[in-house]
Amino acid sequence: MEITELYKIFEQHPVVTTDSRDCPPDSIFFALKGESFNGNAFAAKALAQGCAFAVVDEAAYCPPNDGRYILVNNCLDTLRQLANYHRRVLGTRIIGITGTNGKTTTKELLAAVLAEKYKVLYTLGNFNNEIGVPKTLLRLTKEHEIAVIEMGASHPGDIRSLVNIVEPDFALITNVGKAHLQGFGSFEGVIKTKGELYDYMRAKNTGKVFIDAANPYLMNISDGLHLIKYSTEETSDAYVQGSVLSCAPFLKFAWQQADGPRYEVQTHLIGAYNVLNMLAAVSIGRYFDVAAEQVNHALTHYIPDNNRSQLEVTKHNKLIMDAYNANPTSMNAALQNFRDMTVSPKMAILGDMKELGDVSETEHQKIADLLPLLHLDDVWLVGEEFAKTHSTFRKFKDVEEVKQALALERPQNYYILIKGSNSIKLFQLPEFL
Ligand code: ATP
Ligand code: MG
Repeated sequence: MEITELYKIFEQHPVVTTDSRDCPPDSIFFALKGESFNGNAFAAKALAQGCAFAVVDEAAYCPPNDGRYILVNNCLDTLRQLANYHRRVLGTRIIGITGTNGKTTTKELLAAVLAEKYKVLYTLGNFNNEIGVPKTLLRLTKEHEIAVIEMGASHPGDIRSLVNIVEPDFALITNVGKAHLQGFGSFEGVIKTKGELYDYMRAKNTGKVFIDAANPYLMNISDGLHLIKYSTEETSDAYVQGSVLSCAPFLKFAWQQADGPRYEVQTHLIGAYNVLNMLAAVSIGRYFDVAAEQVNHALTHYIPDNNRSQLEVTKHNKLIMDAYNANPTSMNAALQNFRDMTVSPKMAILGDMKELGDVSETEHQKIADLLPLLHLDDVWLVGEEFAKTHSTFRKFKDVEEVKQALALERPQNYYILIKGSNSIKLFQLPEFL
């Protein structure tokens, strides 16, 4: 079926699902394939549960003479094409965000800022991959005035492929750092992949790119782009200039434009590194004419609830929950921020940083070497990668072992930084602390 024809159906049935357990009435089911499942096998169930159509890509699952089935070559490709077609038809202004760290945080901050003035569509949660991005685009309606789309990558080419369906008008790479090195091959691979967003903007030539002017890796690959700069450093041509005022424990920062007034903003985020995420949101918000007071209102009232840079007060301790993900760059940022926090006593429970491939051992050792320099009162290391490091700090095989230890000896009145890759499951710890 031609995409134009499928689009006519989508216009009548503008809700798309890829999960046969979640079939809103009258929606279109797309039978995607994963490593361990074949969505085609669930098409009949999806129809029985209320979907109006099922897009399948295996003839065996497409009964003859049943107009509810739409047979295509590849369901994911069709989903992507439909999303791109829809995006083009509506012509909504889109801001595309990628980067190693801080995409979701910046996306949430920016959406909050823009929502002060506009009807905004933005990526829900972390739906930033080849399925999440098209599904997000398909949620666009005529009412949306602007969209903020998070794009994630773990292999070269991932961003190019997403950008080609998103076709952003504005772009932001939050930063580049060491993550998913297994997939990217090297740090250069990371830069190149994130740079695919710049490549698209360069070719498009009309769009604007928001950039941290003090980031040498990003500035190095920014030739030929229309830049709007923000920075925590003195730069003559920054659109927005900012600085960290304090982290005790929440980030307070200042920002200013040219000779305009200087604003101070008290946030609810932990971590000095978040100042760059904040400044990105300020810059884009101001660029889109959100009043300074509204920008500040949105940033002050944004409270994270997703285990990212979040303070959680338990009965016995105060937890800095950063257990959602970890890579060498974000681990360093979190640890250095923790070192600079004027609180005590301090404890860190750190889990393995996953997907680092060949450099995993070296990168874990670097963290192990850094730890004694941070003057923390106690450090627990969790997981098999940290187990291999030379370190005198206590080591635990997994989160279960940590829980057993916590049952016997509960730390009291500590500030505890909890950070590790999601699969180490440190997010299970708060109830034991
Ligand atoms: P993912 O790749 O999982 O989608 P993300 O890029 O969306 O991650 P966030 O979820 O916003 O990133 O933040 C994840 C963690 O990265 C935070 O909890 C924090 O530790 C760290 N982080 C956030 N912003 C920065 C930054 N600007 N520099 C360094 N580390 C950061
Ligand atoms: Mg994210």
